[in-house]
Amino acid sequence: MNDCFSARLEGRVRGTLKKVFGFDSFKTSLQERATMTVAKGGKDVFICMPTGAGKSLCYQLPAVLASGITIVISPLIALIQDQVDHLLSLNVKVSSLNSKISAQEKKTILADLMNEKPKIKLLYITPEMAASSSFQPTLEVLVSRNLLTYLIVDEAHCVSQWGHDFRPDYLRLGALRHRIPNAPCIALTATATKRVQDDIVTSLKLRQPIATFRTSCFRSNLFYDVQYKELLTDPYENLKDFCLKALGQKNTSGGYLGCGIIYCRMREVCEQLAIELSYRGVKAKAYHAGLKAAERTLVQNEWMEEKVPVIIATISFGMGVDKANVRFVAHWNIAKSMAGYYQESGRAGRDGMTSYCRLYYSRTDRDQISFLIKKEIAKLQEKRGTLKESDKAMMTDFDAMMAFCGELG
Ligand code: ADP
Ligand code: MG
Repeated sequence: MNDCFSARLEGRVRGTLKKVFGFDSFKTSLQERATMTVAKGGKDVFICMPTGAGKSLCYQLPAVLASGITIVISPLIALIQDQVDHLLSLNVKVSSLNSKISAQEKKTILADLMNEKPKIKLLYITPEMAASSSFQPTLEVLVSRNLLTYLIVDEAHCVSQWGHDFRPDYLRLGALRHRIPNAPCIALTATATKRVQDDIVTSLKLRQPIATFRTSCFRSNLFYDVQYKELLTDPYENLKDFCLKALGQKNTSGGYLGCGIIYCRMREVCEQLAIELSYRGVKAKAYHAGLKAAERTLVQNEWMEEKVPVIIATISFGMGVDKANVRFVAHWNIAKSMAGYYQESGRAGRDGMTSYCRLYYSRTDRDQISFLIKKEIAKLQEKRGTLKESDKAMMTDFDAMMAFCGELG
């Protein structure tokens, strides 16, 4: 693409941002980059940005700008309705085919699509509708007349069984994508785990997609996720499954090829987790300041020699421990800061092999830690009379940690 064309396109994108969507600027440079990439066309794009980051604009703006029709797949009628209402308020020609509309509405939409020059720019449909036999003739005509500009798959993590809201109907979107070979497919999600990403690329048969991501990877062999403890029926079982999956198959002598660390805030919880995991068949021992020095050394050695693959520790563990094959680091409690979290979770996968970092989030935890931080800040203020930036930073840093949980959860 030559520079002149690029510059013109950029100008048109900015113009549309203001004129149609009423925004003076993009929300973030990531949103801008993603929108530009989609608008340039010709390529599949995978957009991963946190909830609320403004993913919709990344396809709606290019859809408005382009000639032709954009089909948007979205999993829930309620989500579709929000988007449709919003676009209608902006005077964008948008319609939705779903099980809730009347026969008359459906007829009007289909008639427009069959027109020589359809007015509709964006057509929202549920995955069920996309697969239904009643939609196939329309699709056929649109494809044969080369009227489709983009195929958008919103909430694309729904294709993945690893995701939290797997939708079997999403699996059939690969076939739909196959039938619209000329329109770039744009997949959007807030879920950043590697497994889900891989599933999206495979299921939707994305062709060398350009990926636009939230942040650069911390380390490419580490896969992060967050689990909401309060939503799990059995958190211990979840932790056990995570340990076993990350440790992988046992080798011929019955041992694992690596080991793992679970961080906990309190001693008693360390002890309890060791019992729960051992009871469920994963050898695990607690390590904390309440143990006698000799005991601590013993536990650490057993872990280093991989006789006991899982160590459950308060944060006093890990300084100076340099073990290459740590396959996972789980945090049973949220960390106080992003920096601390990265340092602790970064003990996984020093050998460069795939490793997993999981954080268990709970509101009780959040409230307790936030309370402790506030107390600490208040104490400092009392002592010094004023607060330094670095004191206030404790809270900001914890907020960043919470934002991280929200993004990956
Ligand atoms: P996501 O799908 O990533 O969760 P949405 O597309 O629903 O996010 O957008 C979230 C909010 O951000 C919406 O209220 C939207 O109007 C707003 N928004 C999007 N782009 C911009 C922008 N460039 N400037 C200001 N607000 C924006
Ligand atoms: Mg969205």
